[in-house]
Amino acid sequence: MPTAFLADQLAKDHATPAAHPESPARWDAALRGLGDAPLTPAPPRDATHEELLLCHTPHYLYTARQDVQAGLDQLSTGDTDICPRSWDVALRATGTCLNAVDLVMNREASNAFCIVRPPGHHASAGRGMGFCLFNNVAIAARYAKQKYGLDRVLIADWDVHHGNGTQDIFYDDPSVFFFSTHQSPWYPGTGAARERGEHEGIGTTMNCPFPAGAGSDEILGAFRTRLLPEMHTFRPDLVLISAGFDSRAGDPLGQFLLSDADFAEMTGLLMEVADQYSQGRVVSVLEGGYNLDGLTKGVAAHTSALSGTK
Ligand SMILES: [Zn+2]
Repeated sequence: MPTAFLADQLAKDHATPAAHPESPARWDAALRGLGDAPLTPAPPRDATHEELLLCHTPHYLYTARQDVQAGLDQLSTGDTDICPRSWDVALRATGTCLNAVDLVMNREASNAFCIVRPPGHHASAGRGMGFCLFNNVAIAARYAKQKYGLDRVLIADWDVHHGNGTQDIFYDDPSVFFFSTHQSPWYPGTGAARERGEHEGIGTTMNCPFPAGAGSDEILGAFRTRLLPEMHTFRPDLVLISAGFDSRAGDPLGQFLLSDADFAEMTGLLMEVADQYSQGRVVSVLEGGYNLDGLTKGVAAHTSALSGTK
């Protein structure tokens, strides 16, 4: 089975101010990382309101839509710049990720990578922030559980920023394991090691914060020594990746030192988890990555590993 590469050009219609790091040019830069690999033909897909409600509150969805329709230049809930097209683009981004879940669950693809924007992992149930509107990867997790009856989903987040929104959504949910390596102290300020979940969800949130300057030793070390042992117990039915490439050396919004080889290696580790417990099923979703050349190279390394062409 091939690796599915999903990217909908509508993503470029989410306009941000000049010099904003989360720019439409990121979509092109990530696409270049695929090299000669063709995009997987898939019908354009928007997330439905019901699908958004898998993770977001009706109040937030109402507010965000009102903000876009009113022509605001930023969400009233946080630091996410918006334009008149942003609602539609965000719906398509989430829908693209749900398409990827379908392809992988229906065994039309072995695994998948989604080049989407806006990113999603800072969006919590009731608040968009950090360039994010809808939490694409979180909705994909709940969608996979609901539609395909999966019991347990892993979300591994190697973006340099803590995925506070994803953590928030699943903090008391033992069926979704959220694992994050991120710079600390850094935006958004959450993700301390002591944040491990609450109620039934205690133990299925795992945060590995590292200082500026951390790289392969710390981050791959955390994947090997912290995540892998947990997965032998958790045994996920599906592996999702919040693939942020702002943890790569040279990113303007992060100070980690990961190399392209490190992204390939983390990908391989997660594929091993998926091979062991999830029938190889991996769906990876683009989050951050703001050095355009670095984004291209990071995506190339990640997707080569996913498709076994490295
Ligand atoms: Zn980030």
